[in-house]
Amino acid sequence: MAATFKGGFHIRDRKELTNEKQTVRLPDCDMHIYPMRQHIGAPLKALVSVGDKVKVGQKIADSGEFVSAPVHSSVSGTVTDIKPYFHDSGSMVEAIFVENDKEYTVSDDVCPKDYKSMNRDELLSVIREAGIVGMGGAGFPTHVKLSPKQKVDYIIVNGAECEPYITSDHRYMLENADDIIYGLKVAMKALDLEDGYIGVELNKKNGIESVKASKEYGENIHIIELKTKYPQGAEKQLIKAITGRNVPAGGLPADAGAVVINVATAVAIANAFKTGLPAIEKNVTVSGDAVKNPSVFRVRTGVPVSFLIEQAGGFANVPEKIVSGGPMMGISQYNTDYPVTKTTSSVLTITKAEKTYDPDAPCIRCGRCVDHCPMRLMPMKLVQASKKDDVDMAQRYNILECIECGLCSYICPANKNLLQFIRMIKPEVMKKVREEKNNGK
Ligand code: SF4
Ligand code: SF4
Repeated sequence: MAATFKGGFHIRDRKELTNEKQTVRLPDCDMHIYPMRQHIGAPLKALVSVGDKVKVGQKIADSGEFVSAPVHSSVSGTVTDIKPYFHDSGSMVEAIFVENDKEYTVSDDVCPKDYKSMNRDELLSVIREAGIVGMGGAGFPTHVKLSPKQKVDYIIVNGAECEPYITSDHRYMLENADDIIYGLKVAMKALDLEDGYIGVELNKKNGIESVKASKEYGENIHIIELKTKYPQGAEKQLIKAITGRNVPAGGLPADAGAVVINVATAVAIANAFKTGLPAIEKNVTVSGDAVKNPSVFRVRTGVPVSFLIEQAGGFANVPEKIVSGGPMMGISQYNTDYPVTKTTSSVLTITKAEKTYDPDAPCIRCGRCVDHCPMRLMPMKLVQASKKDDVDMAQRYNILECIECGLCSYICPANKNLLQFIRMIKPEVMKKVREEKNNGK
């Protein structure tokens, strides 16, 4: 039987729009834009100035802090500007503009490395210098993730890809299975583990077969078939399904003895060692009803999303919504000027929302939100607390455990947007907890 967790729900996934199409390499793009925030952690400083020539794989922004990850140029060319620019978080972020000379001259620093002859610190240093972060969207620096304070027993590659529409990881499984396992083996060595795990939802059976057929596959690599259910790819739910362990409330995966990396992250690790190229390229799904030819593209970072949409044939219908990421947890965008970063996994162009919400709808007490919440919370109680602005009540009902998967809103027959209310009060609870901690309570 396929591994899974309690709760969750199989939602219509629309993956058929792209999952059988070969990944498309983009043609040259004239201008690449590199926001200096593509990770969680310390802010970066530009290492280049306007007028400088840069090469493919050259580091263009970095910080001296451990919890950070440098940014590299994905093309060769000239730095034409450094200024605040659109970012898929919704804010303006300082960005480096590079005019592509289309020669793709590779930086002298780029060279293959033999991971088998390296010790843990050397491996982590290569991963850090390659700017690798959670490429599925999280953006947490991978060298930090692979340096847990606790001894861990599991390294898991997350191939669940449970958000509707997105097939970027699925295409990696079909076209880059060797790299996924190679990246996993590097992570296993960094964590001193003999075995590695790859969790894949059963709606990607050919992906599972492809990974098993890889020349890198062996008996210490365990492919775990996961039930197709949202949010199977959320870290806590994935760890529960594969290890049977619970991540403690307020804790990290390492507290349950596990480290999870995304499929795209494993591929980026493989590239950093096999070719020496840093995190400058990734699969991005462009899908939804508004675009003419939904596709998965292999994209050099810095390409404006408007260019991606052109390559997907442009708009067939007027989009009601553009989303960076999946429809459940992604971020709605104001325009298509923002560039692809290391954490962009998809661009969705949606003509009509799957569901419209009624802010005043009364709860009919059906209990569906409770039955399906993957964190075993009582979402309607959190909504009550939010409406009353009752921080203590929200805390009592464990709001900080909410992973903001949006399933309660999706599943509610009264069309209540529960997540919206949860997001309204959650920061207040976080503030209260921080203050209590500072006061030594
Ligand atoms: S958004 Fe939060 S409360 Fe709602 S189902 Fe997901 S984890 Fe549960
Ligand atoms: S799913 Fe909606 S209607 Fe049902 S209990 Fe939850 S909030 Fe109320």
